[in-house]
Amino acid sequence: MMNRDLKGIHQMTIRCYAAKKPNASLEPFEYDPKPLLRHEVEVKISHCGICHSDIHLIDNDWGISDYPLVPGHEIVGTVTALGPEVEGLTQGQRVGIGWQRSACLNCECCLRGFENLCSQLKDTCVGNHGGFADAIRIDHRFAFPLPDELDSADAAPLLCGGVTVYSALASYGVRPAMKVGVIGIGGLGHLALQFASKMGCEVTAFSSTPDKEAEARGLGAHHFVFDDDSQILERVASTQDFILSTVTADLNWASYVDALRPGGKLCFVGVPKEAISVPAFSLIVGRNSICGSPIGSRTDMREMLDFAARNGIKPCTENIPMSNVNEGIDRLRSNQVRYRVVLSN
Ligand code: NAP
Ligand code: ZN
Repeated sequence: MMNRDLKGIHQMTIRCYAAKKPNASLEPFEYDPKPLLRHEVEVKISHCGICHSDIHLIDNDWGISDYPLVPGHEIVGTVTALGPEVEGLTQGQRVGIGWQRSACLNCECCLRGFENLCSQLKDTCVGNHGGFADAIRIDHRFAFPLPDELDSADAAPLLCGGVTVYSALASYGVRPAMKVGVIGIGGLGHLALQFASKMGCEVTAFSSTPDKEAEARGLGAHHFVFDDDSQILERVASTQDFILSTVTADLNWASYVDALRPGGKLCFVGVPKEAISVPAFSLIVGRNSICGSPIGSRTDMREMLDFAARNGIKPCTENIPMSNVNEGIDRLRSNQVRYRVVLSN
């Protein structure tokens, strides 16, 4: 909702959906944003994906949530106002916004191009209201122009899910000759299958849902492993160079370490509830490692968008109006989504 006061300065009330307390359903909510800072843009939101991290935030799983909490960090929209020091973006331009809304841009990590590792990193919907809204104000250096080839609803899930899996594959040096496993075929996992397969890897989907097999193969998986049974995992022992876990569940991680070839890595992007426990010997004998990866840098974001546009990487989306946000959240909580809910205004 926007209007102009007599001096021509934007006055606006942002309409959005908020959780008022942990585990709550979202309710309509309004807030008046702080004045637009010199580096900020205002973006009118057309689409926003629902990532499982939004559910972790709603439920305060990580102890960092403030209420009322407006989730949403896979945002697509158009620039409607620019602070005086914004460069490289124009009024009306289509942009995407992900999990990160700012960084210090001065520390060693930022100067090396790893803004996603900055200790001053600010999250789009922590201490700030996110993208389940009609607008947002954000540091323009974390608003990314979108390639024309990408439809807005398809671009949304790339802005957190896409960049997270792309960055993990790229930063741990995954190469075309490698065998890559993806655990959990959800929002992140179904994109990871596509990125790894378009990178040229031999891809295995590990899933607790057998009827995802045909779709997983259609998304680029060469093999499908129903991972509900550790005996089944024994059959893939010593086969994988890089396994990316996107699940929120506590699985038998020792079996996945055993599935690694010598020198292999089990990389966590999904956040299980419990601590990860594996026998040290299973890491020692094959010189294997366990690692993690947070979102992606600004360079990763640009590369990922370009790679997705050029290679026809396209999320499978369930598109619903933003007013039905609770329906989308319920479907995601019960693992029914195939494979990302995208809200539209
Ligand atoms: P999602 O769409 O819910 O997908 C998770 C998948 O995990 C499910 O589709 C399911 O796949 C599998 N799964 C296995 N056991 C499950 C169980 N007991 N309950 C529910 N699902 C189970 O979630 P997402 O949006 O992809 O996010 C996945 C995780 O990544 C979340 O923890 C999220 O916070 C995290 N994340 C991390 C980063 C980062 O920067 N590291 C960025 C974004 C998200 P199958 O049916 O195939 O088993
Ligand atoms: Zn996310």
